[in-house]
Amino acid sequence: DEFELYYQPLLNRNGQLVSVEALLRWPHPTKGFISPARFIPLAEASGQIMPISEWVLKRACLDMQALTLEGLGRVQVAVNLSPLQFNRASFLTTLRQTLLDTGLPPEQLSLELTEGILMDNTEAAIDTLQALRSMQISVSIDDFGTGFASLLYVRDLRACRLKVDQRFVGSLDHDARDRAIVSHAISLADSLGMEVLAEGVETAEQERLLVEMGCHLVQGFRYARPKRLPELVEWLKRKPSIHPCP
Ligand code: C2E
Ligand code: MG
Ligand code: MG
Repeated sequence: DEFELYYQPLLNRNGQLVSVEALLRWPHPTKGFISPARFIPLAEASGQIMPISEWVLKRACLDMQALTLEGLGRVQVAVNLSPLQFNRASFLTTLRQTLLDTGLPPEQLSLELTEGILMDNTEAAIDTLQALRSMQISVSIDDFGTGFASLLYVRDLRACRLKVDQRFVGSLDHDARDRAIVSHAISLADSLGMEVLAEGVETAEQERLLVEMGCHLVQGFRYARPKRLPELVEWLKRKPSIHPCP
């Protein structure tokens, strides 16, 4: 019962909200704040990732329903998936059941996957992705450019959105190599008919370069930090417009 879900807005070039990403937080009672980058790999190794992931999915769906009840419209939520969770035979059944139990329309859910998902069991993974598509659940490739076989999974996942890793975005303004990589990732996504998002945008200069390169979507401390649900509600009330779910 110690976990909390925070939400970070994803915006388009006009500053409109397109989605919020659910990010897990563990404020430990004695050890202080523990980063998901530390505890998620441990939970994967111990198998505890399964109950944690189910809790995240359900909480995220319920929280989006709460936003609708508050009169804030239908906000899409992006949930990070662990490869272990995705590759379980019961994954789709649990997902469908969660949508039924919470009443969240599937178009309001988006799933973020990393290339690790395709590594072990490609055929089954492609089938699962096909099923997600027929359920109208959108899929994003997370941390693009940092894994193995990147272009193979870009081709095979046929995802809707490609998220360029913040390690490239962070040094855009002073490293020509990162500018080249980001610019190519944007053209690649564009020509494959995908939306491209830059993660971890912090400065006006990074934003200027991204807009110049034709990046569609942004996420980062420059626009909004991850927030608890009540703070997200306040933020949404101040924001002028919500981009409807696709
Ligand atoms: P991610 O999915 O790539 O999430 C983006 C990370 O970038 C988040 O870190 C977010 O807080 C951080 N971030 C956003 N904007 C900025 C910025 O402008 N500057 C900087 N420096 N950082 C920014 P966080 O929350 O620590 O999450 C780390 C990773 O943990 C996530 O990376 C994701 O892979 C994993 N994770 C988080 N929540 C979950 C979850 O519920 N399930 C699973 N399986 N993994 C999760
Ligand atoms: Mg993510
Ligand atoms: Mg990422």
